Amino acid sequence: MDWKPIKKSFQQWVVQPNLLDYDQTCATFSWEAIRQELDGLPGGRGLNIAHEAVDRHAAGPRRDQLALRWLGRDGAVRDFTYVDLQEQSNRFANVLRRFGIGQGERVFVLAGRIPELYIAALGTLKNTSVFCPLFSAFGPEPIYQRLHLGDGKLLVTTRRQYNQKVANLRSRLPQLRHVLLTDVEDDLSDNLLSLPKLLAAVSPDFTIPPTDPEDMAVLHFTSGTTGMPKGAIHVHQAILTHYMTGKYVMDFHPGDVFWCTADPGWVTGISYGMIAPLAHGVVNIIDEADFDAERWCHILQEQKVTVWYTAPTAIRRLMRLGVEPRKEYDLSHLRLIHSVGEPLNPEAVAWGLQALGLPIHDNWWQTETGGIMIANFAAMEVRPGSMGRSLPGIEAAIVHRVNGSVEVVEEPCVEGDLALKPGWPSMFRGYLHDEERYHKAFKSGWYITGDLARRDADGYFWFIGRADDIIKTSGHMVGPFEVESALLGHPAVAEAGVIGKPDPLIGELVKAFVSLKPGFEPNEDLKLDIIGFARTKLGSAVAPKEIEFNQNLPKTRSGKIMRRLLKARELGLPEGDISTLEGSE
Ligand code: AMP
Repeated sequence: MDWKPIKKSFQQWVVQPNLLDYDQTCATFSWEAIRQELDGLPGGRGLNIAHEAVDRHAAGPRRDQLALRWLGRDGAVRDFTYVDLQEQSNRFANVLRRFGIGQGERVFVLAGRIPELYIAALGTLKNTSVFCPLFSAFGPEPIYQRLHLGDGKLLVTTRRQYNQKVANLRSRLPQLRHVLLTDVEDDLSDNLLSLPKLLAAVSPDFTIPPTDPEDMAVLHFTSGTTGMPKGAIHVHQAILTHYMTGKYVMDFHPGDVFWCTADPGWVTGISYGMIAPLAHGVVNIIDEADFDAERWCHILQEQKVTVWYTAPTAIRRLMRLGVEPRKEYDLSHLRLIHSVGEPLNPEAVAWGLQALGLPIHDNWWQTETGGIMIANFAAMEVRPGSMGRSLPGIEAAIVHRVNGSVEVVEEPCVEGDLALKPGWPSMFRGYLHDEERYHKAFKSGWYITGDLARRDADGYFWFIGRADDIIKTSGHMVGPFEVESALLGHPAVAEAGVIGKPDPLIGELVKAFVSLKPGFEPNEDLKLDIIGFARTKLGSAVAPKEIEFNQNLPKTRSGKIMRRLLKARELGLPEGDISTLEGSE
């Protein structure tokens, strides 16, 4: 089916979009001008994300305005004004200081969407320590890997998460000095302390120390295909991208109520679930509960959400349930809907138009880019199936690899690697403790994103797929190596190869091909046992949903399992180049 572009006209806008003329904005854009719209630390002491997100509003006319509204799973509501957030984050920064956690040291949070996570994140940034979120659906193994690699000094978590996942890891994590629990009123032991008690005992005043824009601020883990997760380093300067994309993509205006459904365990939930809306001084809605169609429509209506940022899996869920929110709910406040994280199929864009009354604007970015790089802007026609055009100040291109270097493809509609010209403020500054991997991501002056795409004659980018074996399941990135390593811990498993199997709802599901050790019978019980084992170790978000026994896993002559071939065979696709396959002539 040929999907027609969705035109935009002035009449349909409630407020005039911040980006009206794309070409002109790109031509006159400068990061320096964006910097001028921010505050900077008083006295020229640098640039700190938490100052821009909280303190500068708390010092001005927005001080008593709602900054964050938290909707609890059970119906509780907690509101924080900018001045409340300032005070709470100051207290957290003072707690860190009390424990001697200093600049550049990593503070981890393992929790669902609870207010303490945001307070800890902002307090950590104020203290110039480094905030590092852990997805709450991770099992103990991914948690261990990240705390270990990130040299976590302090962890904030809940009692349940601690007991279920962290308690048994502590002997393997000698550097983890302090664990603070959000939901106990009193300390449980010398090294299991009550966060509420600590917060109450310290001063609500804190002066952010001088912060170099290049100081490390946030560490986001992402997955690779060959090895354990990589810690992408982001710096305070990233606030320029968060602010700029808040302005031009999210199109924030005073009075907006913004809801980003992404979990703060991943980059979207921090860059847009916290930083960008606060940097613009708008109201940020946080919902603790998981996806529920009725609840979500209710939130859009009751909270009078004006700008909504969600993801394709959620949109497809709503579509599948056959809900037509516009018919049953008052969505008249909703002005813009955005989506990110996986390909947004054109059907979903069309569904948005019909069921929500608005098209869904797809945009593209990744952990390493720190912020949105390509987007369908409010004022531009939406091309269903396309991720949109590159942001002002961002140079994106399709490149081909030729003899070890790369060449930009000028011709439109040609498939190639999606690449970005380095230099934007939120670009990752390294992978923690892994300089080689970082440098490998750059070629001939371009950052190679790992995605394949094409660009049409008007500069709209169209996603094709990943250039590697990384899996995207329900919008979460999963590294096959991490899953394979965990599976090898099961007593019956000799070898494992893990792929992403296309799934109409969640994008891809994690599927493992497993060969068994001698003496083990391939049967359904064993399959369930292995799945259960993987879930306990990795958590439900990462563990395979399907297992297939295969005593003859395809391998290269050097013994590496060929995931590409497993996937091609699974999908009935051509096997491609199999010259390196073990046993081939
Ligand atoms: P993450 O680093 O976990 O945020 O994942 C980034 C990856 O998600 C990208 O490299 C893409 O493979 C995929 N992705 C993000 N946004 C989109 C999009 N709009 N369309 C297709 N894939 C996307």
